[in-house]
Amino acid sequence: MRLSVFNIILALCFFIVPEYAASRNFVVVIDPGHGGKDVGAVGSKAREKDINLGVALKLGELISDEYDDVDVIYTRDDDTFISLQDRAEIANKAHGDLFISIHTNSVDRRSKNRKTVHGAATYTLGLHRSEENLAVAKRENSVIELEDDYTAKYQGFDPNSTESYIIFELNQNKHLEQSVDFASYVQEHFSQIGRKDNGVRQAGFWVLAKTSMPAVLVELDFICNPTQEKYLSSSSGQKELAEAIFEAFGNYKEASDYYSGALVSKNKKNVKSDKKADKRQKREKSIPENKTVYKIQFLTSPGKLSENSGYFKGMDKKQIDYYKEDGVYKYTYGEAEDKDDAAKMLKKVRSKYSDAFIIEFNAGKRIK
Ligand SMILES: [Zn+2]
Repeated sequence: MRLSVFNIILALCFFIVPEYAASRNFVVVIDPGHGGKDVGAVGSKAREKDINLGVALKLGELISDEYDDVDVIYTRDDDTFISLQDRAEIANKAHGDLFISIHTNSVDRRSKNRKTVHGAATYTLGLHRSEENLAVAKRENSVIELEDDYTAKYQGFDPNSTESYIIFELNQNKHLEQSVDFASYVQEHFSQIGRKDNGVRQAGFWVLAKTSMPAVLVELDFICNPTQEKYLSSSSGQKELAEAIFEAFGNYKEASDYYSGALVSKNKKNVKSDKKADKRQKREKSIPENKTVYKIQFLTSPGKLSENSGYFKGMDKKQIDYYKEDGVYKYTYGEAEDKDDAAKMLKKVRSKYSDAFIIEFNAGKRIK
């Protein structure tokens, strides 16, 4: 008798375990480029390895604070040397869902535009279409030369030989589409905070080739340009860049949740979402349901933006709301029953978003 009760309990345990296993956390692997003896590119004072780490840690913190259903894994969280192969292995062992490698760009000392070149680019694995892209991959891959036995370890790959890059052509890249999606979000948010958008690019990066998950390599900006060096070294600059990548992560995560059917996650921070729901309810209650109201639409986004997003800077956050249409988030400001009041709101919003316009809502749905 006792045995059968035990069996039932045992059976229950097995029954319960797969339930938990099914709702596993999303794993993001953040890879601050270089570290330790490998300083990366250098400016007049700044070193790439420090900038990369600064942005990476800020990004990881933002993600951990916002999402309970995401595990943040770093390939390094201090100033240590990690080989490219080990970075990929850390990511693969953690069964990462997304790999974000963070780097700072530079051009050759002899380049005429060394002091003026600027802009951010996000790379996915692929065949370079320009010498410029190949040069970036060569520089980033060349760190393997700091390892003693690199020829054996990297299967004869010579980071400086253009011929070597043919191996990336043969590399099956089943995650390319998702990698490009995320890269596009990153570039979009960089340009939203006023950074120069040098686009989504492709080249043969060893670390991207060896990670078996959607993977990108972000080149934040050029350390050889004194103005950018100053920005990249500043805590506020690093924070801004981290926030932009964080917003991109939010877009990507949302899309990935949607496709995996986990849109309503049990693990999300309940307190936060409750607060948001309360606010929304309060707003909805203030005007009778069947009455037509005017709102100012000012922004659309492929993913949901965080409340603290830079897009809302300087705006009264209590007035900001959104509705979803064709999978796109459309952000609105204010709510007025009177058309004149709406016109006043429009004027205010247009000082920041010149394309903003008035829309009409009835019973929570857009009618015009
Ligand atoms: Zn680098």
